[in-house]
Amino acid sequence: MALIVQKYGGTSVGTVERIQAVAQRVLKTVQMGNSLVVVVSAMGKTTDGLVKLAKEISTNPSRREMDMLLSTGEQVTIALLSMALQELGQPAISLTGAQVGIVTEAEHTRARILQIKTERMERHLNNGKVVVVAGFQGISSIDELEITTLGRGGSDTSAVALAAALRANCCEIYTDVPGIFTTDPRLVPEAQLMKEITCDEMLELASLGAKVLHPRAVEIARNYGVELVVRSSWTDDPGTRVVSPTPKPRSLEGLEIARPVDAVEFDTDQAAVSLLRVPDRPGVAASLFGGIASQKLDVDLIIQSIYEDDTKTNDIAFTVTKSSINKAVSVADAIVKTMAKNSTSQLGEPEVKPEERQIAKVSIAGAGMIGLPKVAARMFQTFAEANINIQMISTSEVKISCLIDAEDCDRAISLLCETFEVNSSPAQLATAEASSIANPPAVRAVALDNNQARLAIRHIPDKPGMAAKMFGLLAEHNISVDMIIQSQRSREVDGVLRRDIAFTVAQTDAQQARLILKEAASELGCGDVDVDEAIAKVSVVGAGMVNHPGVAAKMFKSLADEKINIEMIATSEIKISCVVPQEHGVTALQAIHAAFGLAGEHKIQVPA
Ligand code: ADP
Ligand code: ASP
Ligand code: MG
Repeated sequence: MALIVQKYGGTSVGTVERIQAVAQRVLKTVQMGNSLVVVVSAMGKTTDGLVKLAKEISTNPSRREMDMLLSTGEQVTIALLSMALQELGQPAISLTGAQVGIVTEAEHTRARILQIKTERMERHLNNGKVVVVAGFQGISSIDELEITTLGRGGSDTSAVALAAALRANCCEIYTDVPGIFTTDPRLVPEAQLMKEITCDEMLELASLGAKVLHPRAVEIARNYGVELVVRSSWTDDPGTRVVSPTPKPRSLEGLEIARPVDAVEFDTDQAAVSLLRVPDRPGVAASLFGGIASQKLDVDLIIQSIYEDDTKTNDIAFTVTKSSINKAVSVADAIVKTMAKNSTSQLGEPEVKPEERQIAKVSIAGAGMIGLPKVAARMFQTFAEANINIQMISTSEVKISCLIDAEDCDRAISLLCETFEVNSSPAQLATAEASSIANPPAVRAVALDNNQARLAIRHIPDKPGMAAKMFGLLAEHNISVDMIIQSQRSREVDGVLRRDIAFTVAQTDAQQARLILKEAASELGCGDVDVDEAIAKVSVVGAGMVNHPGVAAKMFKSLADEKINIEMIATSEIKISCVVPQEHGVTALQAIHAAFGLAGEHKIQVPA
């Protein structure tokens, strides 16, 4: 007899009829000889409605009271589903997060699960009952029963965490689409259903805006090896499997926060090139990386951010292997010269500057690196304490990488291994191991996130420890950051060399992040902090990207063809993200999806 955890989302339990249909499906699974724990969301758009009510009373409601309010939605559904099952003659019992004993951090509205007590559920299962559990909620203290919620979309995380704690045979996420698509089928009806996806790819996609799965659900599945599948609530089609490599054994204590880093990786075969003062207009990144790709040069990291001065030009930096550096510089030089010739503006000459110092890329790898901001902050802090300057940062859910001086590499590795209590290995080896599907495609899927904001901080002193201070402060408030980009040019202000740093955060965190950094501005010795909320982040994700030159060039070209200007670029090994003006977000997503040939033959109809 198998133990299965099934989760039904808001639309799937949106009406009484749908709850009755879910009860039928649950009954069928039981009749096939399985034990069942069912996790449900609030009905339809109930949670949105509750948020709206709160906003009518307060612009800034207490986070504790928000949890008290929002956790009620799921409680309605568990009772109704249990009644529906009992009507069918199937014994069932509903349990809230507190009644199960889902213990979380005392962090209202975004609590992580620390521990799940399984005794009460097991007792009911042994008595032949279906256990119906409220998703999205827990308690921060067994004594005081403080109700917490896991963050919007968190029922997926409840389900996978329960599956891990109960050592269930599998966790099935039932939703309003037939599985995971190459992009959101509501925005691109030609999107194709995927049979399978690696958990690293899904983790990136989920964190980059694909809300079909909560990123933390994927993290838990990966860490505990939970069999995870996403399926339609309305059909018997198999859906999409999220495939994990065999995990190392780990304790269920501190479920969502223990041991976030699996390994420290390094790559000493890297060389960097900076391009200064390239014109800020559509098509520039496309022709630059198009030229580089046509020479079959494999670019690893790319970053681009606007340099805020009167000229409105960009700085772009990228890395290649050491043996390709001369070729990369000469190709870039030729392209930049043509650009300058064709430009009539007074931008100042663009310049190609190979990094003269030897560099190394040092990374920490694991699951949920962005979602656990304290992890990146600890990495930066480790470098700050050792007086190691960070030249470039690349963030992703499965890896945070820093480019540093090659001479600091050995020291950096051993300090990071000590900080995170792990071993080190060369990066190539680790990437090959992490790919749990043979020959994954260069681009598996595309995502759009319209709920991001860009923050920019001016005139940060160019010395070790600045990233540690800034991101340490944000991490203390649990604010996750992505796409961290330091300007390549530094300039002297008040006798100190300074750079600008830009990064993205969730819009809901943007004003708090601005205030935190503004308050610290004098201590950090930096200038203004500004926020741009009118941005969209479009990203491509694929575990096979590492071995395919030209992915970035193709993505940039598809944006150039639509005359969409790229405001920021940041890459990691398995993703490329571009910030574009928000009004162009959907067009950008559609263009990129088409450019990579991801469209299927059928258009999909998504229920309201
Ligand atoms: P539930 O209420 O079942 O948790 P959600 O609304 O949270 O459902 O997630 C399902 C929705 O995710 C789909 O209706 C779809 O619009 C959206 N979505 C975004 N990206 C993708 C993707 N790559 N594949 C499938 N669905 C996606
Ligand atoms: N009801 C919660 C929300 O709307 C949790 C969930 O549905 O996953 O965010
Ligand atoms: Mg959801």
